[in-house]
Amino acid sequence: MNRMMKYLVVLFLFLFSIHAHSQCERWQNKVSYKMEIDFDTDRHQYTGDQFITYTNGSPDTLHTLYFHLFLNAFQPGSSMDMRSLTIRDPDRRVGARINQLKEDEIGYQKINAIFQDGEGLRFTIHETILEVGLDQPVLPGDAVTLRILYDAQVPLQIRRMGRMSDEGIHYSMAQWYPRLCQYDELGWHNNPYIGREFYGSFGEFDVSITIDTSYTLGGTGYLQNPEVIGKGYTDDPVGPYASEKLTWHFKADNVHDFMWGADPEYTHDTYLTRDSILLRFFYRKGENTEVWSSLPEIMSEAFDFIQQKFGPYPYRQYAFVQGGDGGMEYPMSTLITGHRSLPSLVGVSVHELMHSWYQGVLGINESLHPWMDEGFTTYATEIVMDELGRRGIVPGLAPKEKLFSSSYAGYYNMVEAGIQEPLTTHADHYDLNTVYGISSYSKGALYLYQLSYIIGQENLEKTLLSFYDRCKFHHPNPDDFRRTAEKVSGIKLKWYNEYWVNSIKVIDYAIDTIIALDDTTSRIVLSRDAEMPMPIDLGVELSDGSALYYTIPLNLMFGHKPLTEGDKTYQLMADWDWTYPKYIFDIPQPLSKIEKVIIDPSNRLIDIDRADNTYPLKDR
Ligand SMILES: [Zn+2]
Repeated sequence: MNRMMKYLVVLFLFLFSIHAHSQCERWQNKVSYKMEIDFDTDRHQYTGDQFITYTNGSPDTLHTLYFHLFLNAFQPGSSMDMRSLTIRDPDRRVGARINQLKEDEIGYQKINAIFQDGEGLRFTIHETILEVGLDQPVLPGDAVTLRILYDAQVPLQIRRMGRMSDEGIHYSMAQWYPRLCQYDELGWHNNPYIGREFYGSFGEFDVSITIDTSYTLGGTGYLQNPEVIGKGYTDDPVGPYASEKLTWHFKADNVHDFMWGADPEYTHDTYLTRDSILLRFFYRKGENTEVWSSLPEIMSEAFDFIQQKFGPYPYRQYAFVQGGDGGMEYPMSTLITGHRSLPSLVGVSVHELMHSWYQGVLGINESLHPWMDEGFTTYATEIVMDELGRRGIVPGLAPKEKLFSSSYAGYYNMVEAGIQEPLTTHADHYDLNTVYGISSYSKGALYLYQLSYIIGQENLEKTLLSFYDRCKFHHPNPDDFRRTAEKVSGIKLKWYNEYWVNSIKVIDYAIDTIIALDDTTSRIVLSRDAEMPMPIDLGVELSDGSALYYTIPLNLMFGHKPLTEGDKTYQLMADWDWTYPKYIFDIPQPLSKIEKVIIDPSNRLIDIDRADNTYPLKDR
């Protein structure tokens, strides 16, 4: 083999090996932002000079680029305003507030000019979406650099971002710069902003913010000039500032967004975790000082546990920033409100931190698959909070009595009210905010918890680790997750997504009859009373105090879960064909010895009517 041939063979093997083991390997576009911001804190306005280099990894030639101008949503008559005015259950934080904003209270992003190679480009602003026609299209594999000059005004705090939060934080700077819309195998994700979720390309940020010296800043990215800034970023003394404004220079790599908070009265605490990840805390001292000062040690413990359970965190820093209007996740950081009890502050901190795994590092499209992002985050949060409760390190926080009890309750309420929509609904397009919330957070979390019932808890944990490892920085979709679970467990799961994700069909099993066949054998008849099929675990308690456990796989699984799980050992039964409404099986026990038969003794199946899941049948 000549050298070229050898090179090609090695290259081929390399590419093949990536393809062979990586579930989520597919093309993606990359973006690099370099921006200079000059902030006027008297007017709450800033100017931006932003360079964007966009690398086209797609097989398509791009003639047009789209950007989000989120701030334009904070104006009377905007899509977001109208959505809030007309939806039956508006977010209380928004309501009619956008409609009442005055000129100096609205948000805006005014684009002054866009250049490609020094030539001005034509562009159209569709409220929160900027459409830019390129002079020269970007060919597959090529890159383009644009320069955008703009003016912006920070609106009064309404939703997630803005000035003067309820807790008095001056600036919560999320969704604040012209952000490239995501282009992937589904095309452009240029949804006008109505206050919901986000999705963007991975890339680099180089951000310089010039602002009044009185402010302290914290958020995404590593500060590049701590020796100039001081303010808790360096232990060394920093001399008097030379001018009225300071330029804060941040960099972040391999992230898809950049958030910052700014306040003249932030206290800035730091804490190094055992794995040398630097935690930063920005908050206003006051009635909640004590609560915030307990947070670092607890979050450090949580961080260690999370990395062990859900995979390694790839950055060296994470910032908890008081601001916003509840809790919202951003790469390497979060904006959270701070006037809370300690268990509540820990709860929101753990939830937003967990998003780093699903929204941050995996880069799940949280607009299209909110149930994966919020649901998986809710799942992990429950596990972490339960663990912190067990360790007893958060005064007032106990271990969970039953995991996911509030998720179950939310889901059951939604089903009973008849307002369900399938999890495939785009986050913007749910009829009701309540249904978006319960579907994404609760039904999404239950997707995982119930999956542990189907494939076993150990397989679920391995699946989550493997999914994170294989799909990080690759924007995985529901099928990527399902395929990972199938590979880990050896169980086919398409049917599970088809019912639980793509439909609103529900689960309802029952013990139909139990009769004595003869003196030594009893016959148990189970029935499926609703559309969604599931495997069935069955417990039989005998009068001598012992118990037998059976597992009945669904024929669509082409396999079964491990027969030992925790303290239970299951006997494997014949498959239940999903088209059969009844399942009959005989057990070698006299009826007189059977005290109780129970469907799903581990209490994970999301059966909408559990009353008929036990025998002796009550009230019948
Ligand atoms: Zn969340």
